[in-house]
Amino acid sequence: MRKNKPDQTAMSSSRRQPRQPAKTGLASRLAAFSALKDVSGGRHLDEAMRHAGDLEQRDRGFVRLLVTTVLRRQGQIDRVLDDIVTKRPAGRTRDAIEILRLGAAQLLFLETGAHAAVDSTVDLMRAAGFHGMTGLANAVMRRLSRDGADMLARTVPEDNLPDWIRQDWQRHWGDDRTRRTMELAMMPPPLDITPARDPAGWSARLDGVLVDGRSIRRDFDGDPTLLDGFEDGAWWVQDVAAALPARLFGDLAGRRVIDLCAAPGGKTAQLIAAGAHVTAIDTSERRLRVLRRNLQRLGMSAELVQIDGRRYRPEAAVDAVLIDAPCSATGTLRRRPDVAYHRSPADIEKLTKTQGELLAAAAEWLAPGGCLIYATCSLQHEEGEAIIDACLRRPDNQMTIDPVTATEAGSFAPALTDTGTLRIVPADFLSVGGADGFFIARLKSGRG
Ligand code: SAM
Repeated sequence: MRKNKPDQTAMSSSRRQPRQPAKTGLASRLAAFSALKDVSGGRHLDEAMRHAGDLEQRDRGFVRLLVTTVLRRQGQIDRVLDDIVTKRPAGRTRDAIEILRLGAAQLLFLETGAHAAVDSTVDLMRAAGFHGMTGLANAVMRRLSRDGADMLARTVPEDNLPDWIRQDWQRHWGDDRTRRTMELAMMPPPLDITPARDPAGWSARLDGVLVDGRSIRRDFDGDPTLLDGFEDGAWWVQDVAAALPARLFGDLAGRRVIDLCAAPGGKTAQLIAAGAHVTAIDTSERRLRVLRRNLQRLGMSAELVQIDGRRYRPEAAVDAVLIDAPCSATGTLRRRPDVAYHRSPADIEKLTKTQGELLAAAAEWLAPGGCLIYATCSLQHEEGEAIIDACLRRPDNQMTIDPVTATEAGSFAPALTDTGTLRIVPADFLSVGGADGFFIARLKSGRG
């Protein structure tokens, strides 16, 4: 990636125009409806996609497209629907709103023909058991096919953010970057891959482009596990921005590193590939099992410890610690549009408390001169800059910021702040197709 001028035209046309199969049936739409109900009940998008598990791969792709389009565009869709449906379905028919959203998504964003969109929405209403609402579905869809484009033109991408996130981003990153970050979040993301070795060779084999000579980026909307080299453990999926924190340690050959908050292990794999002896810590047994499976596939090994990081004490001081802290994940909206509906200001308060405590605990594990990298895939200032500020202000603090250089930051040099931390706002990387939002700080221990 080069220094980036915002320019959406550089994004590939295949990502601008999501593909959909010519013919897909009621089963796909029923699966999409069930998945949306799950997400609105609090379930993670990937888990909600279990409803599409029995479908053929092509139809699973269509279900995912339907579901993610509704989730990405829900604010805009609801603004349009609110002008037509004066009284939202309630009580036993409450979930019927998901069917209207699915119909609207097809007409407004997926270029489904009007006839097919109207008929399939009415059929879905009936199949879902809302027999008394087929007339409403028909009326809404006909109105949308007539006036939908004009109604949509009165909405903006920021409508798809909850008010508290939108206001927070506008305050910290400005109106324009918020708008452009949301425009990017409306697009299906590219597939980013970190190869264990031979990035140039794997980039050619996978038909991708190399970012900073290390990450591979390509368009792909299928199942990445079917691609060349996955089964053999040659690479793992990892956003280009997520691949940056572990690289900022420099030479790790033979070093002792603690990867705190390690699962599912993308950064653990990077640390191991760089030659470090890694202790990978995570509080979640389930997620550690996933990490173990991932390392097995990659032919890598690490010491795995299941514990709350705040209670961990290493036997000896270590050279480096990576904290990829649990966070709101608001930087990953493009990949996880459900995040917008699952977070609240109360979560931020809880998360920032944990983040501060994990950072304070980990600072104690370092040998003199040791290096600590703190990262979050959040666009909330409280989970990034404010955590580091609070750490540096502690009376017993022994850490200082070790500024990241432009060379080390590579394509992400535009994200360098005055203090040498990195604030990656997706809007600043439009010309290369974007990246997850991240905050990264490198600290040095002065204890000893
Ligand atoms: N580093 C991982 C990677 O690159 O694949 C992603 C880590 S994810 C952002 C955050 C992780 O922190 C989750 O796996 C979660 O289980 C773990 N976690 C949350 N609270 C924790 C705590 N108090 N101690 C240790 N791990 C924790």
